[in-house]
Amino acid sequence: MTSYVLAQISDSLSDSGGIAVYNPANGRLLANVHSHDREEISSIIDRADAARPAWQKLTAQERANILRRWHSSILRHLEDLADLITWESGKPLREAKGEVAYGAAYVEWFAEEGKRAYGEVIPGFSARSRILTLRQAVGTCAAITPWNFPLAMITRKVAPALAAGCAIVLKPAEATPLTALALEKLAHLAGVPANLFRVVPTAEAAEIGSLFCSHPLVRKLSFTGSTRVGKILMAQAAQQVTRLSLELGGNAPFIVFDDADLDAAVEGALQSKFRNAGQTCVCTNRLLVQDTIHDAFVERLVARVEQLRMGDGTNPEVDLGPLIDAREAERVAMLTQEAVSGGCVVRAGGTEAEGAFYPATVLTGVTSDMPLVRDEIFGPVAPIISFSDEAEAVRIANDTIYGLAAYFYSRDIGRIWRVLEALEYGMVAVNEGILSSETAPFGGVKQSGMGREGASHGLNEYLDIKYGLLGGIAA
Ligand code: ADP
Repeated sequence: MTSYVLAQISDSLSDSGGIAVYNPANGRLLANVHSHDREEISSIIDRADAARPAWQKLTAQERANILRRWHSSILRHLEDLADLITWESGKPLREAKGEVAYGAAYVEWFAEEGKRAYGEVIPGFSARSRILTLRQAVGTCAAITPWNFPLAMITRKVAPALAAGCAIVLKPAEATPLTALALEKLAHLAGVPANLFRVVPTAEAAEIGSLFCSHPLVRKLSFTGSTRVGKILMAQAAQQVTRLSLELGGNAPFIVFDDADLDAAVEGALQSKFRNAGQTCVCTNRLLVQDTIHDAFVERLVARVEQLRMGDGTNPEVDLGPLIDAREAERVAMLTQEAVSGGCVVRAGGTEAEGAFYPATVLTGVTSDMPLVRDEIFGPVAPIISFSDEAEAVRIANDTIYGLAAYFYSRDIGRIWRVLEALEYGMVAVNEGILSSETAPFGGVKQSGMGREGASHGLNEYLDIKYGLLGGIAA
């Protein structure tokens, strides 16, 4: 295991102890990473806050120049970074390369968007005065990220924070600290001041989450992860009324109406369900297929699923890598077995995990009350529910505590509008299986969280609005 970026982070690696990082494809130890404790992170936050005023004083253009150097450097090291992502997260190399390009795009986008943090001048409420607004950096921020996108979940938060003029301290997931450290190093080499942006791997996630919510200099916390942890952080954030962005769990429906282009729907379902072995918060969790086309759709989907090749993600032929660890694969197996005991039929794949691997699986005869479709599966299992009309599809789709992403396929323009408006989700893709982009606002409603990442909305998460009143104007 040699690479330029790995050599860059050698200081953060230790011979033993700390956080052990494993390759989920073969269970081998990749590296040991220093685990930061509460005291260390507390003083890193102090130093980040001290580095912030000089950064904030730069013009947006000057900050953009540095961010653009970081962007170029990420792309220059795309292959090395993709290797790291595949080694520590297991995702197929093709997807890892896609993630590097996608993650880098946030840096470029926010480098530019930082220049457009416009204020306003509003006519006053009396002849004497005028109202103005300034959009100013929130201050020093903290962030916590998951393992399913070891790179992109970081740039989505760090790029807008830095573009806005904030400092940021980020705790990556325990399973994937190597990519995070490499990204930090490339940022520093590109000119981001070393104390302004720090990555702090730790084995004490709960302790550090609580520190982020109680340290007096942390003004904002951005979290991507489970709804369970999001709720803990939200309760802790009450202590200091810390501003929050939460990107939490989802339960994405993928609805196929009888007027859909079936082949396009099958391809969309494949992308949306099996990308990253089903381990994204916007992955399809349940397919709702109209009864009149159910059998035709299932037949085509099964034929395509059977072509997916499972294996070590470093093999370029592989479509489906391992899950993040064997425990996760076992959890998915149990959910599937429970559904089969409840009467579902396995049409492709199976019900058994092999180490961290789980086969791409299609189940029919699923009902909307089964735990398999009420919980987030986070694995490569596609449960199919049959429905009879539009109203029923919308009712089943909305019958969840989550509201992140939804997908549907139809060619009827009236239905497209109706269903788009009726779905209680933060993001709805019509006739497309992938919707994430740095140019669009990513985020959820209900228990899927609050705040948006990407687009101009993503910058707003790191800006406060200040209202200024200028009086004494009338002569
Ligand atoms: P996932 O199911 O994606 O692992 P988690 O919510 O468990 O979702 O983890 C997402 C991130 O939250 C990881 O970086 C993890 O270390 C961190 N985390 C887990 N528990 C806590 C906690 N109690 N407080 C703060 N962060 C936590």
